[in-house]
Amino acid sequence: MSVVHLNGEYLPADEARISVNDRGFLFGDGVYEVTPAYHGRIFRWGQHLARMRKGLKTVGIDFDAASLEGVNRELLARNGLETVPVACVYVQVTRGIAPRTHAFPDPPVPPSVYGFAKRFDRPAREVWERGFRAITVPDQRWALAEVKAIALLPNCLAQQAAVEAGVRDAIFVRDGIALEGSHNNLFAVFGGVVTTAPLTNYILHGVTRDLMIGLAGEMGLPVEERAIPLRELYRADEVFFTGTTTEVRPAVEVDGRTIGEGKVGAVARGLYDAFLAVTGS
Ligand code: PLP
Repeated sequence: MSVVHLNGEYLPADEARISVNDRGFLFGDGVYEVTPAYHGRIFRWGQHLARMRKGLKTVGIDFDAASLEGVNRELLARNGLETVPVACVYVQVTRGIAPRTHAFPDPPVPPSVYGFAKRFDRPAREVWERGFRAITVPDQRWALAEVKAIALLPNCLAQQAAVEAGVRDAIFVRDGIALEGSHNNLFAVFGGVVTTAPLTNYILHGVTRDLMIGLAGEMGLPVEERAIPLRELYRADEVFFTGTTTEVRPAVEVDGRTIGEGKVGAVARGLYDAFLAVTGS
């Protein structure tokens, strides 16, 4: 039985209870973060913390997220995850418990904090080397996609569409532009140029995306942050996704069209190897 964190307490998952009046439950009114730990070392916490602080500020939840570093450590320790190659810690903060009405509780109520940790099993290398397939879906999300909001219904619908299509990933397309995946950022390679959507309000500002841009730079690969029209994406030499629970995942087919030569490309492979090296996992 996994041990979870709920409002300052650590307890078995099946003993954790929240109120039906929690605004996370009623409205999806909260933000979350997923942070990886490699052999027990929390990776890039500063960036995850900064994103959570920004999201909390944007939605007006008054909570000091710095305290969550201790929660992350404790969840890893209490679940015996300090020695596994990869674990992920999920933490969400909602606006708290109050009778249902849209406007914020006045006076404010204490935010609710919930967290859990679990082991992450990456695909076997031979499976990764075969590459994966993706589809595109219309982006029906709100215009604050840079906030890591717990309200993820459009992302769930997108990923379900991928499952029903028998593929691994779904790419959000808005006004003909391929933006990001349902739970990961999107990269394409055009003539050796590593290309990804710019940091706007229409994508999540991924910590792994940022890491990839840095690693590509170190490998001497040119990087361009610009809008990628879907019709151009189909003609990319390579397409791949990045994210905390995606790591680097190459797509060799999008919407039934073969990408490049239909094989995992050298850039995705090089970045994946660099990612494994830098995370020591
Ligand atoms: N884009 C979306 C919509 C996501 O949900 C995520 C991660 O959950 C990402 C991108 C990747 O972000 P990160 O690399 O920080 O995990």
